[in-house]
Amino acid sequence: MPFKSSQPNIDLPTNITNWTWLFNSPASPLQTIPPSQLASYTNATTQERVSWSQVKTHATHLSTALVRHHGLKKRDVVALFSQNTIWYPVAMLAVNRVGGTISGASPAYNVEEMTYALKTANAKYLFTIPGSMDVASAAAKNAGIPKERVFLLEGETEGFTTMKQLLELGKKEGDRGQVEEYKLKDGEKNKDLCGFLSFSSGTTGLPKAVMISHQNVIAQCLQIQQITPNTHRKVLAVLPSFHITGLVHALHLPILLNAEVYMLSAFTMKSMLDTVVRYRIQELLLVPPIIIRLVRDPIVDEYDLSFVTRFSSGAAPLSEEIIHLLKKKFPNTGFKQGYGMTESCSCITAHPPEKYGYEHAHKVGSICASTTIKIVDEDGKELEINQPGELLAKGPQIVMGYLNNPKATKDTFDSDGYLHTGDQAMIDSEGMVTITDRIKEMIKVKGIGVAPAELEDLLLGHKHVEDVAVLGIPDDYSGEKPKAYIVRKQGAPGEKEVGEGLLKYVKEKKVRHKWVKEVEFIGEIPKSASGKILRRLLRGKSRKGSEGV
Ligand code: AMP
Repeated sequence: MPFKSSQPNIDLPTNITNWTWLFNSPASPLQTIPPSQLASYTNATTQERVSWSQVKTHATHLSTALVRHHGLKKRDVVALFSQNTIWYPVAMLAVNRVGGTISGASPAYNVEEMTYALKTANAKYLFTIPGSMDVASAAAKNAGIPKERVFLLEGETEGFTTMKQLLELGKKEGDRGQVEEYKLKDGEKNKDLCGFLSFSSGTTGLPKAVMISHQNVIAQCLQIQQITPNTHRKVLAVLPSFHITGLVHALHLPILLNAEVYMLSAFTMKSMLDTVVRYRIQELLLVPPIIIRLVRDPIVDEYDLSFVTRFSSGAAPLSEEIIHLLKKKFPNTGFKQGYGMTESCSCITAHPPEKYGYEHAHKVGSICASTTIKIVDEDGKELEINQPGELLAKGPQIVMGYLNNPKATKDTFDSDGYLHTGDQAMIDSEGMVTITDRIKEMIKVKGIGVAPAELEDLLLGHKHVEDVAVLGIPDDYSGEKPKAYIVRKQGAPGEKEVGEGLLKYVKEKKVRHKWVKEVEFIGEIPKSASGKILRRLLRGKSRKGSEGV
């Protein structure tokens, strides 16, 4: 029997877009709260802010400019390539408003990675910031996006249209000249309208564009709202907007909850702590690598954080040791986790308020509303409580599939509607879930997924590499780090020279969180009869007789 959520089902609207829901439906704070009391996205450094009613006005003008003057059409994909800025959600909602799709990309991508992201998502437009313009414009050129469709979210770069100019252009059309918001037609459902494309390697292979519907995002917001105390008034937006956690918990959910969002463009411990103290943010949404810094970095002792009531962690596993240290350092706080993946539009499970005590902290919470899970063994047989197996999940937050990739979609989302997470978990008699292992290939570096296949493809192209497998190994600083097992080509130089060369080679080609940190040479990569790398065997393999770099 599948395990069901013990929460009441959410009341899910099925025929409106995220825009209509957030701004023009009875759920919207704009319909019930006076404008002066509406919260905002605030730039934590400059204090520039846009309240929800300003977001609505700006996004309306922006979508009018994009449609009327730049030809944006329903289902066109617009890439956002930027650090966190208050103009990111304005652009995002403007595009969604007229039925377009947003594709977020890591601002650290190099030209090659960004080109891959633009091509895979079939992006037609691109928004960026001055600091990323070199990469953005080169990648746009590679992907066939003309310069006239590359815009700036903020700031100025000569020769490119700015947000300010676009807003002016839209505003000039006057109140009556604004383009209508996209309304779903009779019979059209918001589960069939893709609002977002986010990248994930899923359980295997290269990064793929995950199609996230308007309904997925609305459902996840309602699921989390149901277990969020109404004291949740301030949100620290330190996690990147392009990742599903930021997209839902820092860009969408705060509008529904009318909670202030404080955005940090670039993370440093100092800027984060300054922001937390300046705005007295009581609940901190973080990822494990930042929590590790919180308990280990001496800078934390320079701040009085006694007003913090709760830590929230997600996106990657957090060790019991760190949880213990966190409780010791901040004894008057509570703790909660969310567990899920891009393919589940964030959470499958999360802690409800009655489980905020540290005794439940190593678990990832209970099943979200309107969601069922199964725990299955290798043959797909359903397991009972306290038996570990692969976690499968079904619910309104489970996404539409992978863009232009029916095979990966079929392999990951089964015919009964269950997402195969590739995570090993168990559920206890109280309905609390524990993640016990990761079966899939994905490596989590600072909470961001890295696809071993991407690094294997790259390394296989190196002149001294005969064969390769990449695995994640534990790392104190980033949670996990990529390690490459290498079979050298005959006649290649010594292990030390090749190893150092390979580390440098990856650094030159890939964004920082994908850098290989260790190389080990072995005689052969263990593979199944069908040629699949046997990663578990490799993980257990001794380093005897090989030289690590
Ligand atoms: P992403 O698609 O980047 O969000 O990565 C999803 C993966 O991150 C999941 O399949 C898990 O392997 C891991 N993950 C997410 N949240 C947690 C958590 N709370 N505890 C352990 N692992 C997690």
